[in-house]
Amino acid sequence: MCWNLRNKQYCIKNKQYSREEYERIVGELALGSRARIGELDAEFWGHLRKDAWHRASININTENCSGNYLTDSKGCGECYFLEDCEDDAYAMRCPQTKDCMDCSGLFRGEKCYEVSQSTDLNNVKFSIFATDCSDCFYVDQCVGCRHCFGCVGLKRREYCILNKQFSREEYEEIVEKLTEKMREEGEFGEMLPYRFAYNGFNLSLAAFYCDVPEGAWLESEPESEVAGVDGRDLADAEFGDDALNLVVNCAETGRPYKFVKHELDFYRRLGLSLPALYPEQRNKRRFGELMGLEGRMVKCAGCSGEVVTYWQEDKGFERIFCEACYLKEVY
Ligand SMILES: [Zn+2]
Repeated sequence: MCWNLRNKQYCIKNKQYSREEYERIVGELALGSRARIGELDAEFWGHLRKDAWHRASININTENCSGNYLTDSKGCGECYFLEDCEDDAYAMRCPQTKDCMDCSGLFRGEKCYEVSQSTDLNNVKFSIFATDCSDCFYVDQCVGCRHCFGCVGLKRREYCILNKQFSREEYEEIVEKLTEKMREEGEFGEMLPYRFAYNGFNLSLAAFYCDVPEGAWLESEPESEVAGVDGRDLADAEFGDDALNLVVNCAETGRPYKFVKHELDFYRRLGLSLPALYPEQRNKRRFGELMGLEGRMVKCAGCSGEVVTYWQEDKGFERIFCEACYLKEVY
């Protein structure tokens, strides 16, 4: 339960102890009790709110960028979770991309627009789950394709429209007519319609980052009705291998889940209690601890200069620092 320390060991709540003292105190914390963990969690958050210094954003080695969680990037606007990127805009989780806009989950790409969950693309637009493709529009699950339009599940093909093969000349002529027609209808230039989504909003990664938008398609999982032990009634640290047979209903969502052997061994080794939340719910909580996707201006708690932070107001952090003040205080 320490904050802002560097190169220290055997500290508790930022106070130095000998190894023996540290081990004795931690041993007495009763970390196997879920209620105790809850108390310690609340106490720790109190320290984070009042005593810890927080950098306004987590951008490392960036130049002319806005957004957050950016590393070794330049010229990127309103981007999040990027690394080694250049001149992107509105991109999220897109490492090693350049000149891309409105993309999410793209790894290694150039000149892409409205692309999601894809790898190694060049000049691909309005596409999902594409790998090693270039000069394509509206492709879904295609691999190694060039000059394809509106295709699904093709491998190493060129000049296809709606999965049908054409010559280069035919392709260019038809695509020109198609895009013209789509422009007239107001269809061209947008991501695939929402009805093509692979799953409901609630089961997508978007649900980690955003609240469910109005009118979103929500999906229930087939197994969601399975009844088991209520997570809140799970025993604390004492459990045997028979816990492998348990079906547990998440204490917050009711969704059922089970444990695996490695997981039980891990909890046992650290003397922890069994988790009462569905695994994705645990992930969602961890994501909730990250900064949000909307910047706001605050006064640096060190120099009083204005700084953009992505910590939402409701976190209640009182000591948000600009990069210079943060580095001065912590290092
Ligand atoms: Zn400052």
